[in-house]
Amino acid sequence: MPTELAILADRRPGISGLAPGALEAWFTDRGEPAYRARQVADAVWGGNATSAADARTLPAARRDELDASFRFDTVTDTELRLSDGGLTEKALHRLADGALVESVLMHYPARGRQRERHTLCISSQAGCAVGCPFCATGELGFTRDLETAEIVDQVRHAARRLATNGKRLTNVVFMGMGEPLLNLDRVLESVDALNDRHRFGLGARHITVSTSGVVPGIRRLTALGPQFTLAVSLHAARDALRDVLVPLNRRWPVAEVVGAARDHARATGRRVSYETTMIGGVNDTPVDAQAMADLLSGDHAHVNLIPMNPVAHTPWAASPDDVIERFAATLREAGIQTTIRRNRGQEIGAACGQLAAERAGEPAPAVVARRRDRLIDESAHALRGERSHEPAPAGVGE
Ligand code: SAH
Ligand code: SF4
Repeated sequence: MPTELAILADRRPGISGLAPGALEAWFTDRGEPAYRARQVADAVWGGNATSAADARTLPAARRDELDASFRFDTVTDTELRLSDGGLTEKALHRLADGALVESVLMHYPARGRQRERHTLCISSQAGCAVGCPFCATGELGFTRDLETAEIVDQVRHAARRLATNGKRLTNVVFMGMGEPLLNLDRVLESVDALNDRHRFGLGARHITVSTSGVVPGIRRLTALGPQFTLAVSLHAARDALRDVLVPLNRRWPVAEVVGAARDHARATGRRVSYETTMIGGVNDTPVDAQAMADLLSGDHAHVNLIPMNPVAHTPWAASPDDVIERFAATLREAGIQTTIRRNRGQEIGAACGQLAAERAGEPAPAVVARRRDRLIDESAHALRGERSHEPAPAGVGE
């Protein structure tokens, strides 16, 4: 085991994050034939190598040099927790600088004509600056952007675990910690690596990126053309309420977010999916259901209603099932395709960020009490339709 200091000092780039051609250049700079890069890539992507020693087709001296230059796995320090009888696997990854991020692997057995699926939910940032108050990651605040390899290696880690049982990963969703569109360059590089048939080789239709509504990021994606499925975290159709639930709404209001998503659907021909976390007595009222129906009616859209996962330090809980059913019925009456998604792995905190939050320790009781009071007060104002004049979260969307 490397010592803690050695881990902290490890600045070697992750090999899975290298752009195609970079490895070739590394070999040719050393007077080696370019095909060596192919041999390493085969070990990294085909063999899922965790160290240069796994690149067996390479001369020993080159393996040592590679080891000195690159990390073959940036998520070596990973702790697993199982739940749902093994159907949900939560991984807490400790990165080289000590930052903690989570990924969650969900197994869906075959049902009827639907084949079995293995979906991995990954993180794009350590923490998140957006600060949605129902989200464990939001409460943690922002630590840093993940490197491309740190994003991709969460996927390679899960793929390795699946391979031991002869299974393959079928879907990747960027719905873990962080706001992917605020780390868009690294997210696009990792999607490239996942999608490239010479690297991970997962079809773009099997990749979903979720955003809380970073409008310039959505517009940039639209200009690039279809890359993956875009999911937008909507949570509320009224600005007064969405300001509270997604503080980024004060920077990009809901009409702008939905406008950008609508343009995206039109330009790419791909349906946008809207996620809504259902919070009892907060965003599940008949008025809110109607507002959402009015906002999305006529769109090429799909709404997913997700009962809120219990999160420490909030005054809120999931909406009751019958309330969610009624909300769904209002949307369906307006012709909007709507599904209700049951939560997975609640007891291990599968809404990403909960394990990391647990490790971060308990905040002082007075801080928790102040936060709860503020949220109760803000949501009461929002339910009456009053907008607050708080600015958007610092450092976001300037
Ligand atoms: N930052 C991006 C992607 C990560 S969050 C985003 O917000 O879209 C992924 C999804 O998990 C979002 O739809 C978010 O609203 C949801 N989520 C966060 N906390 C939750 C909780 N406690 N219960 C249910 N869903 C939650
Ligand atoms: Fe960030 Fe998404 Fe959590 Fe909001 S829901 S705080 S955007 S990770």
